[in-house]
Amino acid sequence: MPVVIMDASIYKHVPGGELVNANIIIKDNKIHRITDNQNEVKSFIEENPETEVLSSKDKIVLPGFVNAHTHSPMSVFRNYASDRSLHDWLFNMIIPKEQLLTEEDAYWTSLASQAEMIRSGTCAFADMYFHFESLVRAVRHSGMRANLTVMPLSNKWNEGKRKTVSNAQEAISLFKKYNDNEMITLYTELHSVYLYDIDMIHVNVEVAKELNTGIHIHLHETEKEVDDCLREHNKRPIELLREIGVFTRPVLAAHCVVMNDDDIDILKEDKINVCENISSNLKLVSGIPRIPEMIDKGVNVVLGTDGCASNNNLNMFEEMHISAIVHKNQMKDPTVMPAHKLIEMATKNGYEAIGFKDRAGDVAEGMLADLIMVDISSLHCTPINEVAACIVYSMQASDVDTVIINGRIVMRNKEFVTIDEELVKHKVRTVAKRLGL
Ligand SMILES: [Zn+2]
Repeated sequence: MPVVIMDASIYKHVPGGELVNANIIIKDNKIHRITDNQNEVKSFIEENPETEVLSSKDKIVLPGFVNAHTHSPMSVFRNYASDRSLHDWLFNMIIPKEQLLTEEDAYWTSLASQAEMIRSGTCAFADMYFHFESLVRAVRHSGMRANLTVMPLSNKWNEGKRKTVSNAQEAISLFKKYNDNEMITLYTELHSVYLYDIDMIHVNVEVAKELNTGIHIHLHETEKEVDDCLREHNKRPIELLREIGVFTRPVLAAHCVVMNDDDIDILKEDKINVCENISSNLKLVSGIPRIPEMIDKGVNVVLGTDGCASNNNLNMFEEMHISAIVHKNQMKDPTVMPAHKLIEMATKNGYEAIGFKDRAGDVAEGMLADLIMVDISSLHCTPINEVAACIVYSMQASDVDTVIINGRIVMRNKEFVTIDEELVKHKVRTVAKRLGL
């Protein structure tokens, strides 16, 4: 159904940000027209009587956010096993409980994350988790745009010894069944350098090559990851993966915290998309990534929340805000990471990183209609003054009023259209109880 947003204040990606007044006509899944000609809008509505007309009084219109790295079913582990080291938290607390999640659990817990993301203005996300077909089902239910992963590799354990096995054929057939490059884009998952037998990583690259797709990986998240790899292979993970050919594919690399100058050069040379997960890195004390230097070198840097269990929410406003203030202090320079840059990272850079370069992330004609309307009538947004700063430093996730994804309204006046919020909350609480969290 076509949608018209009347008298919209549209955010534009320019230094400091800018609001431009015009009417937005959304037809099919695209932004069809942006015009200040009222007669044109009137005749469009007359010709398309089923058009839904939205008022944008006290609201601004932004491109939707892209949460470029998360593990959506982990909503159930929110606030479980806090205040531990990453390895203790992950291996001793989370992984044993994760084994208990059923397909049905993954469906509901992922759907809960998607509801939380929609409510806070996120239109698209990149996910990495097992129970793949449940995630597909949840994405189709919510109406979100998603970059999910198929897994060409997995591990079998025998008497405490790990052996990486190939699931290439299964990954290829799942890809062919579900990838549509629109609502569901599929990459291959290469969880990390430390989770597989190194010689098997070639299988992952071959599958990504055969499917002409990208690879989603955790890269240089901790000192331990880099040190272990150096000890075992005499190379840093990024060097080893480059040698294997991983970076011949489009790569979405989460974290990139422990990076020397040569590592950053590789990010740039091999066009690796870096997803910063600043809340997760700070909470788990993994360190602070050298984001301003990466941006200076021309690396495409985007933002993600990581799984809800290490954050403990999926709020992209928080990621922008924390990233800005942390890196200003890291560089001892308040001029780095200006607000409009954070908004670009959370929107159009994010779309580029998940396979939608120049197709979404800007409220402009011809773009995919992934956009949000945010209420600016609150005290904390009064007065707006510089709009980019208002969005990054003052705005709250709860200000998001209406969310449109692929031309379809999925939240209207803070009410979900596609998701039964109370049912989702009930299901997640039930799973948490059963897992004994
Ligand atoms: Zn992660």
